[in-house]
Amino acid sequence: MNSFASRAVHAGQRPHEHNGAVSVPIYQVSTFERPVVLDGGWDYSRIANPTRSAVEECLADLEGGARATATGSGMAATTTALLSLCRAGDHVVIPATTYGGTWDLFAEVLAGWRLAFTAVDMQDLDAVAGAVQPATTLVWAETPTNPLLTITDIGAVAAVAHEAGALLAVDATFGSPYLQQPLALGADVVVHSTTKYLSGHSDVTGGVVVSADAATGARVARTCGIIGTAAAPFDSWLVLRGIKTLPVRMRQVCGSAMRIAEWLQEHPAVRRVHYPGLSCHPDYDLAKRQMSDFGGVVSFEVDGDLQAASDVCASLRLVTLAVSLGSVESLVQHPAKMTHCTLTGEAAMPDSLLRLSVGLEDTAELIADLDQALAGLMA
Ligand SMILES: *Cc1c(COP(=O)(O)O)cnc(C)c1O
Repeated sequence: MNSFASRAVHAGQRPHEHNGAVSVPIYQVSTFERPVVLDGGWDYSRIANPTRSAVEECLADLEGGARATATGSGMAATTTALLSLCRAGDHVVIPATTYGGTWDLFAEVLAGWRLAFTAVDMQDLDAVAGAVQPATTLVWAETPTNPLLTITDIGAVAAVAHEAGALLAVDATFGSPYLQQPLALGADVVVHSTTKYLSGHSDVTGGVVVSADAATGARVARTCGIIGTAAAPFDSWLVLRGIKTLPVRMRQVCGSAMRIAEWLQEHPAVRRVHYPGLSCHPDYDLAKRQMSDFGGVVSFEVDGDLQAASDVCASLRLVTLAVSLGSVESLVQHPAKMTHCTLTGEAAMPDSLLRLSVGLEDTAELIADLDQALAGLMA
């Protein structure tokens, strides 16, 4: 069972441990009868639960890590990782274009606990090296980024972090383990919002922290058990179920996203397309080297202002206007008005930028929907 596809279906799942059930049952239970005190078995679901353990084992396997901890959201995973790996007085280097919730966690919560951070352009290795201080214990990267899909060279940033005696953690949500495996490239910890591609059906929020080595993995699991950020049994089961179809879903959305990106590039009402699979994308070569395909998110700037972009969103019929990504249904959102509305000045997203998360609908019908919505701009 060496292939990703086979492991996605079976890793961490042993029917003989569950009365032969081929789908790991949902152990909807908070506590477990103990034959003897402290025998090392199941004990209390905040600490460990059989359904959650199955999804954790599966994700550790798919990422090539020693241990995974499944949490109740992507932000719970990020919080658990940071509280495990950092102490007051430490310093962390983060990307200037990090996920908004991650930025808020550093700026509004952890800064108050004396965790210092410096935001840099992670594509500029000199800037990363220059931001590292004696107190730096962690470099936090994110690739591909949201919403412009820039790619960070994981191996190169890992080398800079390790040279400074720091660990590298990567939020790899946009690629999923099917497209890239950061631990194999040198990262120490991988974080995902499993809300996105891993569960894939817009029906659960979840997250995971995967550690390359057992000691770090044990520390993260222990922190999770103490602070109570673990994923619930039913949510764990939904993520485990979603993972089984991750390879087929990713193949479909990558193919569809590529066709849509190429089509958008030729459209007179589109000014610019951001998709790492296009050879004109500045990170095309790096993406090709680091990822097995280019993902299901395509961002594009329409030829118009904030209102024009807003009108395109409102005109789409098959594509749903909503935040989030990585699901079976195609979603569009308007970063300047939605996910990135608090960014100002140089950090602000272009008014005319739209982010499309390509789903499993028919590609030709998605293109037809985009065509009728963009036609409004040319009237
Ligand atoms: C959605 C997302 C998160 C946060 O995940 P939640 O499940 O919403 O808490 C973190 N990082 C990235 C890149 C995301 O897209």
